[in-house]
Amino acid sequence: MSAEAATVVWFRKDLRLQDNPAFALAASHAGPTLCLYIHDSSYLEYSGGLFEVPAGAAYWWLGQSLRQLSTDIESLGGSPLVLKKGCSLSVFKQLAHEHRIKLCTWNHSYSPYQSQKDRQILSLLHQLGIKTQVFDSALIYDPRKVHSQTGGVYGQFSPYWKKVSQWQPKPPLPAPSKRLVPFPNSAALSSWQPEDTPHWAQHMRTLWQPGEKYAEKSLAGFADGDALASYPHLRDYPRVRGTSRLSPHLAFGELSHRQVYDRVQRSAHSIKHEFLRQLAWREYSFYQLYHHPHITSEHAQKSSFSIAFRPDSEVSTDLKKWRAGKTGYPLVDAGMRELYATGWMHNRVRMVVACFLVKNLLIHWIHGARWFHDTLLDACVGNNIAGWQWIVSVMPHFRVFHPAVQSRKFDPQGSYIRLWVRELRDLPVDRIHDPYLSFSGTSKQPHTPKYKSELWQNYPRPMVDYKMSRERALAIYKQATYVKKTKSKSTHE
Ligand code: FAD
Repeated sequence: MSAEAATVVWFRKDLRLQDNPAFALAASHAGPTLCLYIHDSSYLEYSGGLFEVPAGAAYWWLGQSLRQLSTDIESLGGSPLVLKKGCSLSVFKQLAHEHRIKLCTWNHSYSPYQSQKDRQILSLLHQLGIKTQVFDSALIYDPRKVHSQTGGVYGQFSPYWKKVSQWQPKPPLPAPSKRLVPFPNSAALSSWQPEDTPHWAQHMRTLWQPGEKYAEKSLAGFADGDALASYPHLRDYPRVRGTSRLSPHLAFGELSHRQVYDRVQRSAHSIKHEFLRQLAWREYSFYQLYHHPHITSEHAQKSSFSIAFRPDSEVSTDLKKWRAGKTGYPLVDAGMRELYATGWMHNRVRMVVACFLVKNLLIHWIHGARWFHDTLLDACVGNNIAGWQWIVSVMPHFRVFHPAVQSRKFDPQGSYIRLWVRELRDLPVDRIHDPYLSFSGTSKQPHTPKYKSELWQNYPRPMVDYKMSRERALAIYKQATYVKKTKSKSTHE
C-alpha cells in the first residue's frame, strides 16, 4: 500500500490537460495523483458495444495520443500515465484493493455502455468509501438539459440548433499550472502498451499528428487562416482543403467543443456561424445517442423504416467491392480509397458512399458502420452511428444520391477522383464521372479509349445499375412505410 492517499484521474475520450475539469480537480489536490487510462474491451461482449472500443486506424491514433498525454503529464511533474487493459470495474477493484485512494474523478460520457459501466463503478467506489467527482465537459449542451417546447426530445436538428444556439457556452478552463505530486512506482502499474502500427497506418503517420498540442495547432491554423472564412463556400468540395479536419482530435477529446467554440468565436472572421452549426451536429449526435441508446444496435432510428436489407449471406462479394473502392462508381471508389489510405473521408463523400451501400446495394448499414469504425481515425460512437442512421432513416427516403451527379457538382474537374482512382487519371472531364457512359444514357457499350493511357480499362464496370437499384430501394422503403402504417392502423381498429 502506498503511504499517502492518492487522487485518481481517469482519462477516457478526453485526452487533454486543458479544459479538463476532472484533471484540474485532481491537480488542485495535495497528495499524489494517479493518471489512469483503461482500454476496456469488455464492451465487445455487447451488441453495439464494439463502437465504444477504438479499433484499426483509431487504435493507432489512441496509442500516439496516450504517449503524448503521458509526456505532458510528466512535464507538470506527474508520474507517467498508467495504462491498463481489461474491464474497468475490475481495474478499479484492484486499484482500490492495492492502494490508498481518497478520490476518483472523471468526465461524464454520454455513450450508453460507458454510462452503464460508470454507474457500476460509482457504486463500487461508494461502497469502498472512496469519494468521486464526475464533471460535464464532453459537450457544450448537456443532453439532459435540452428539451423541446413540449418537454420532449428534439427529433430534428434545426429546432435543436435554434434552441441551443441561443445559449452562451461556459468559457474553457486553462491547463493547471500547479506542479503535480507524482504517484510512487506508477510505471510498474501499467499492464498494457498500445501495439505496433497496423500496416495501413504507415501513410497516416505522415499525414496526421495526434495529441493535444497538435490539436491546438490545427485549431489555431484553421481559425486564424483563410479556411474558416471560406468554410461556407468550400466545405462541400472534397479536393479542396475546405474543412477543419479536426474530427480525430475531437473524437479523442484532445480538444473540447468549448475550446473549439471559444477559439472560433474569438477569430476575426465574420463567418463563424456556419462552422459552429456544423460542430453542433456532433453535439446533436450525442444528444440522440443519449436519448435513444438503442440506435447503436441494428435497428433503424425511425422504426417505420426498418428496411428489408439483403440477407448477409448474399452480400459478401458486394461488400468487399465497396470496401476496396471497386464499385465502378468513381466518386464512391475515390472516397473508399481515400478512407483506407488516410483514415479520413470528406463528409460529402461519406454521405455518398453510405447512401450507395444502403440504398443502391441494399446492404445493412451496420456493415458500413463497422467498416467505418475500423478505418476512420475519427471513428466515434455518436457521429458514426448518427451518420448512418441519418442516411437510412432520417434523410427523405426518396433521396438516393447519384454518384456521378454528385461528383459533377462537387468535383467538377474530377481532380478528387483523379487523385484516388489512379486508373482514371487521364480521362477528360466529360468522361471521368462516368467512364462507361452507363449513367448518362449515351451508350451502354464499352467505349474504345482514345486517351493517352489505357489504364482506365482496368477500372471495373458499375457493379449495379443505378436506375434499377434506385427504383428497388424506393419500392422497399415504400413497403416498409406501408407495412408500418397498416400495422398501426390495424392496432387502432
Ligand atoms: P468540419 O466540417 O471541419 O466540422 C468540424 C467538426 O464538426 C467535425 O470535426 C465534427 O466533429 C463536427 N461535424 C461536422 N459535420 C458533422 C456531421 N455531419 N455530423 C456530426 N458532426 C459533424 N464524424 C466523426 O467525427 N466520426 C465518425 O465516425 C463519423 N462517421 C460518419 C459516418 C457517416 C455515414 C457520415 C455521413 C458522417 C460521419 N461523420 C463522422 C460526420 C462528418 O463526416 C465528419 O465529422 C467530418 O467529415 C469531419 O471532418 P472535419 O473535421 O473536417 O469537419
